[in-house]
Amino acid sequence: MNVERIIAEIAAEVRVCTKCRLSKTRTHAVPGEGSITARIMFVGEGPGQREDETGRPFVGQAGKLLNLLLEQAGIPREDVFITNIVKCRPPKNRVPLADEVIACNDYLMGQIASIEPKFICPLGGAALATLLGPDLKISKVRCQVFRKSGILYVPLYHPAAALHRGALRETLFNDILQLKDLIKRDISEDEIIEIGKPLEKSTFTVGSSESKKKKNEEPKLF
Ligand code: URA
Ligand code: SF4
Repeated sequence: MNVERIIAEIAAEVRVCTKCRLSKTRTHAVPGEGSITARIMFVGEGPGQREDETGRPFVGQAGKLLNLLLEQAGIPREDVFITNIVKCRPPKNRVPLADEVIACNDYLMGQIASIEPKFICPLGGAALATLLGPDLKISKVRCQVFRKSGILYVPLYHPAAALHRGALRETLFNDILQLKDLIKRDISEDEIIEIGKPLEKSTFTVGSSESKKKKNEEPKLF
């Protein structure tokens, strides 16, 4: 099957998915969108209100800032792929719970496996914890190149965090410029920080059946 077909099929599945509780409160699921030949894949935390209303990722205030920074950096939004760790809006924009992230993970993994971008950029702490493990701090690891299971990652601040903080906004913009440079050139081995921990291990630790046994207590990832 070709990439376009796979991405379309994942999107079709997401739109009718009922694998977790977020399906009950969503208006539209937000599968993600962009180029099927993207070299950069941005992965956010989850749809917000505007995304839930429209079914499209990063179309609210944070999305507008992301668009602006991409445009200023000379990266056309149509050239990247943008999605989230959960495809349905968590109520009141709360952080997605571990079991929701796990339920939704196959869709993201399918998108990554078929598009095969050069870099995946987790945007903010929630995506970072999901993709690279819960011990990393976005402020410490932003704009560094990580490799896990053969895939390269460059974590960036979430544009929502940069919305009202000028300093973060400048950092995010400079990091996007760096990313543009990284896209164009070969990455040497000594620039890469290897991560051994597979996603399953980190998520299952916090969302294990052990912690789920306690009634009324949702496993929290972050
Ligand atoms: N914030 C996110 O993390 N994702 C979106 O799609 C929009 C805002
Ligand atoms: Fe399905 Fe993901 Fe939506 Fe949950 S968040 S209902 S797993 S698409």
